[in-house]
Order: sequence, then structure tokens, then C-alpha cells
Amino acid sequence: MLVSVDIPDAAALRRAFVNSSRSKMASMSLPSPWPLPHAEDLDFLGWVDPKAPRRAYLVIGPDTVDELTSIELRVPSATASRKRQTMCDLCQTTEAPDGSLLMVAPRAGSRGRSGDAVGLYMCTDFACSLRARVPLKPHQRSLTGMPDTRVPALVERVTAFVDRVKA
Ligand SMILES: [Zn+2]
Repeated sequence: MLVSVDIPDAAALRRAFVNSSRSKMASMSLPSPWPLPHAEDLDFLGWVDPKAPRRAYLVIGPDTVDELTSIELRVPSATASRKRQTMCDLCQTTEAPDGSLLMVAPRAGSRGRSGDAVGLYMCTDFACSLRARVPLKPHQRSLTGMPDTRVPALVERVTAFVDRVKA
């Protein structure tokens, strides 16, 4: 769903950043392995920079938003963040093994440079797309036959986040 055909390479990802400085973009490291497992089934990709643990990235593809978009996120320091079962704002679960953390994205352009930022709690493994696809247990299913809207709801929330960063 993310990129159905082409998994972007590092150069394409760097060009797609909307809220990062040139020097930070240049120093972005891809996770290993790349592409991430199941990348073609994910609504967005996310990872913590293997060489800079206070930086993470969220990437969303052109079939979800109008163009490939990369967003730099600030990861809170280990001391600032207490490990708590805070609900992820994207998949709305508390299932991530290491919980969720408040990831903060500077907004694009001059607003971001003057300190304006957007934050959401996100699963620290960014596997929200997989969590939204875990089959519902019988007691979670709608008694009235309402469809399972977890995936479209996740896409809507992540798209809204990207729009706020870019706006
Ligand atoms: Zn999540």
C-alpha cells in the first residue's frame, strides 16, 4: 500500500524530506534491512535512525498522499520519557513491545525553524499498520455488523499528521 511498486532509495527519501535541514538529511541512515520487512503492505514506514537514536523518520508514499513525503521526528530522551503504556495516537493500541513515545516533528519551512512543531504518541517500532490488520478477536467484533475501519482510520490519522507538518 505504501509504495506498491518502487521502494524508495536513500536519495529519493532525502529529496522527500519536508521538515529537515540539508545537513540532517545528508546524515540520515536507513535501517537494516532495507527495505523494511513487509514494506509493501504498510501504510507508512518509520524507523529510528540507527546512528542517531534521538532522530526518527516517517515516510508515506504517493498512493496515500500526493507525493512521497519524509518527515523527521525527534525522539524523546530515555530519561525524559517514562516507559508507560500510553496509547499510540496512530493505531490507537498499547501493543508495541516498548510502548509508544511522543514523537515531535518540526513543521515545514519558517514555522519549524522558529520552533513550531507537531507531536503525536507513536508506537516505538512504527508497526501501526500491522497492528491495524491483526484479526479482531470475537469479543471485539461489532455485534451490529459494522465494518472494521481500523486501517482507513489509521491512514486518515497519519495523513492528517503529515498535512499538519507540511501546512
Ligand atoms: Zn501505533
